[in-house]
Amino acid sequence: MSACFKGRVALVSGAASGIGRATAQILSRRGAAVCVADLDADGAQRVAAELVEAGGSALAVAMDVSTEAGNVDVVEQVMQKFGRLDVVHLNAGILSVGSLLETDLATWQRVLDVNLTAVFLGIKHTAPLLAVQGGSIVVTASFAGREGSYGMSSYVASKHGVTGLVKAAASELGPMGVRVNAVCPGPIYTDMMITAGSLDEVNASPVARTTMLERVGEAREVAELVCFLASDAASFITGAIHAVDGGMPVI
Ligand code: NAD
Repeated sequence: MSACFKGRVALVSGAASGIGRATAQILSRRGAAVCVADLDADGAQRVAAELVEAGGSALAVAMDVSTEAGNVDVVEQVMQKFGRLDVVHLNAGILSVGSLLETDLATWQRVLDVNLTAVFLGIKHTAPLLAVQGGSIVVTASFAGREGSYGMSSYVASKHGVTGLVKAAASELGPMGVRVNAVCPGPIYTDMMITAGSLDEVNASPVARTTMLERVGEAREVAELVCFLASDAASFITGAIHAVDGGMPVI
C-alpha cells in the first residue's frame, strides 16, 4: 500500500539506523518532510543527506530521547524549519540482555529511561502540535512488549510499559484527533539485534526458527506497517498493538 504524505511533516527518532531509518526513507519517498532524530549525530546527518539526495526534504537533529530538553528542542527545530507536525514515530531504543539477578540498577534505569520514559516525553511534547490539524503517533514496542523473554527483564519491562502507555495515551488523545498505536517487531535484521553475520547466515540460525516464516524480518517490513498506521488509510485505528514478527508463538 502506498499512502501519500505530501505536505506532511514527520519526526522519526532513532532514525540514524535500522527501523527508524527505513521509516524515514519510506515517509520521505511518499512526500513527507522528515526530521531525522538520533543520539548518533553523524548518523542522523548521513540519513538526512540521503533523503535530500533522493529529492526529499529533511532535517537532522542530534538528541537524547530520554531527556526533556532534547524533546523540547527537537519540536522547536521541527516547527522552526517546517512549521507543522503530522506524524511522529517514537522508535529509538536500546537492548539489554542479562539475567535479572545480575542486572544492576544503573542498567535497569537507563533501559527504562530510553525505552519508556522517552516515549512519555515524546508523546507529551508532540501531541499538542499534532492536535492542531490531527495527526498520528506510532511507537516501536517489541514482541517483548507482549510476552516475556528469557534473560531480558529490563527490556521486557520497558516494552510492556510502552504498550500500556500507548493504550492509555490513545484514550486521552483520541478526542484531540491524535491517534496512537504501537508496533511489536519480532527479530529484525538491524544493528541492535543481529550483529552476527549476513542476513542469509542469520536466516540459517536458530533465531530465524522462532518465527513461523522461519526467517528474521527486515527493517523495511516494520517500516511499512509504521507508515500504514501513520497514514490516513488507518484513520479508525488507535490504541492498538500490532505484531510484525513473522508469526511468533506464545511462549
Ligand atoms: P538500531 O540499533 O539499528 O537503531 C536504534 C537507533 O536508536 C540507533 O540509531 C541509536 O543511535 C538510536 N538511539 C539509541 N539510544 C538513543 C537515545 N537515547 N536517543 C536517541 N536515539 C537513540 O535498532 P533497531 O532494531 O532499528 O531498533 C529500533 C527500535 O525497534 C527499538 O525501539 C527496538 O527496541 C525495537 N525493536 C527492535 C527489534 C530487532 O530485532 N531489531 C525487535 C523488536 C523491537
